[in-house]
Amino acid sequence: MKFIPYGRQNLDRADISAVSGTLGTDWITQGPKIAEFEASLCAYTGAKYAVAVANGTAALHIAALAAGIGPGDEVITSPITFAASGNCVLYAGGRPVFADIQPDTANIDPEQIERHITKKTKAIIPVHFSGHPCEMDKIQKISKKRGLLIIEDAAHALGSEYKGGKVGNCRYCDMAILSFHPVKHITTGEGGAVLTNDRALYEKLLALRTHGITKDPSRFTHAGPYDGAWYHEMQALGFNYRITDFQCAMGVTQMRKLPGFVAERRKIAAAYGELLRNIPGLELPAERPYAKSAWHIYCVRVKDAATRKYAFDELRKAGIGAQVHYLPVYLHPYYRRLGYKKGLCPKAERFYDGELTIPLFPGLKTKEIKFVATTLRKILAVVD
Ligand SMILES: *Cc1c(COP(=O)(O)O)cnc(C)c1O
Repeated sequence: MKFIPYGRQNLDRADISAVSGTLGTDWITQGPKIAEFEASLCAYTGAKYAVAVANGTAALHIAALAAGIGPGDEVITSPITFAASGNCVLYAGGRPVFADIQPDTANIDPEQIERHITKKTKAIIPVHFSGHPCEMDKIQKISKKRGLLIIEDAAHALGSEYKGGKVGNCRYCDMAILSFHPVKHITTGEGGAVLTNDRALYEKLLALRTHGITKDPSRFTHAGPYDGAWYHEMQALGFNYRITDFQCAMGVTQMRKLPGFVAERRKIAAAYGELLRNIPGLELPAERPYAKSAWHIYCVRVKDAATRKYAFDELRKAGIGAQVHYLPVYLHPYYRRLGYKKGLCPKAERFYDGELTIPLFPGLKTKEIKFVATTLRKILAVVD
């Protein structure tokens, strides 16, 4: 059997012809496909506004800036995430504060959030790890009580549902971000988006995406009588975080297939749930009653770090692309140099020690799913 990666894109003729269709037009950067893609994100999630950008990290960066995060501010986030969830706070000059997780979902624990709130706390960045939504009702309650903003890192959760509503609808947050990296639920190569229901935040995000420049005469502050149609103003320090028209063409065709992708991911997760039942020392990922996960990744847990290393190596030898998600962000050397220390979030550290991600993506064949499950079962029978 050929090597099975832990995740991969699913592109077909529709995506390819959509991309090549844009290349012959006058628009290869800021064309009509961008608004069309943004509209499809809004229609699917229920958010009012979407701002598509170059990647998910850029989305986090401009969301942090639009939230007003700056020097002296603390922002509470999860340690079990991709580094970008914490890095965006550093980009903005603030300090990320890591609150420990709930072991069954590896999501940030609302009680731990409360424990870490200080006078400097400005915002919370919950991460829907693996696609399983966080307890947003509790997190929203905390934010209301304390006057904090919420930016959901929904990079794993496009297509997930929380209490019957789509993640990204922004009912429980100020902004939510998505990533369209090839391992995520849909892809534009590189790409990301910020979703919001707030008009003022939306306008800030639009400006930050493109240098903080406005061409809208109603917003000009210094236009004179001899300024013409060429005139524009840079009113904030923004970036070039634009996405291209041909990427968004692919985003539009990918969005049409998203419901099918999510259904297939859920089917694969259910199959693993059956095939990996009752293996001593193996814990399977939870799905709480309030949640419907879009299953970005399928994370199992073994009893300790030695077993994980052994199982990981054996899976790789068998041609199975196991992965590990994630080293707690604050244990990266860059964060250690900022003063974060081992022991900060003991549950996150324990989770990391035993975590193993096995392949899950639309297009994974039934015989590959069975092969992954039987191989893992055999490996764990040896260590037990
Ligand atoms: C992928 C990812 C990001 C960043 O997305 P990019 O598009 O790769 O920049 C942010 N947060 C999480 C949790 C992610 O998994």
